Amino acid sequence: MHLFLVKGFLLGLITGSFLNVVINRLYAKEDIVKKRSYCPHCKKVLKWYELIPIVSFIVQKRRCRGCGDKISWQYPIVEIVTALLFLQASNNVGYQFIWETLFLWSILSGLIVIFVYDLKHFIIPDLVLVPIVVLVLIFRFLDFWSLGSSNLFKNWFAGWGIGIGNPQTVLASIAVALLVALPFAALHFLSRGTWMGFGDVKLAFFMGLLLGLHNALVALFVAFVAGGIMGVILILTKGKKLKSQIPFGPFLVLGTYVALFWGQGIIDWYFSLLL
Ligand SMILES: [Zn+2]
Repeated sequence: MHLFLVKGFLLGLITGSFLNVVINRLYAKEDIVKKRSYCPHCKKVLKWYELIPIVSFIVQKRRCRGCGDKISWQYPIVEIVTALLFLQASNNVGYQFIWETLFLWSILSGLIVIFVYDLKHFIIPDLVLVPIVVLVLIFRFLDFWSLGSSNLFKNWFAGWGIGIGNPQTVLASIAVALLVALPFAALHFLSRGTWMGFGDVKLAFFMGLLLGLHNALVALFVAFVAGGIMGVILILTKGKKLKSQIPFGPFLVLGTYVALFWGQGIIDWYFSLLL
């Protein structure tokens, strides 16, 4: 079990390093796999020992060995966060449920790219969002978890509130996804894209599809509270006006992450307050 967690962490570090490449090359519209990694400043092709996650960053004291240009904090942060999330997913799902673990790792990887990309460029890339939408649809269609599921996934389905095990589940999940995306679409079209980007509408659709209605509501609640707090902090510290742009995608990703791992706990706690 412990070895499984160590493997999850190490695989997360390597995946995080790859996600950095995806984030940079998506923006530069470069091929993600064909070209060797290089310094974005001097274009020097990096040697294998300059590509070791975290270690290279520390050994090289944050500088490129070719031109001495500073390396962005994005690299080690994305690597460490990916590693920790992979570890958390492995630990929550358990080593006997390898497909569930792989599924969660893929979803988390997509969410990490969306988080950083939207923060940097104010765009949620379809090239990342569409594959994870398709992945969720495939897994729902195959009904992967009907035979035996980890507790995390059992809780997750409990949050769905609908039966599983037939093709209607896929249609029902799409209906829920449209329902979650609807208010975002309304905000987007009413404000002509100034309050809510269309990327946020699509991301909300994905959240409904992945999380189901109950957990998606938890995710949206977390996103709006976190976004509100951040907005107040920015207004107080930097004097930013409310209209000035903060991308909302990262908050939606944060909410999705919280709902994915703690959604059912939060729902149970909320209803225990009512009773
Ligand atoms: Zn360089």
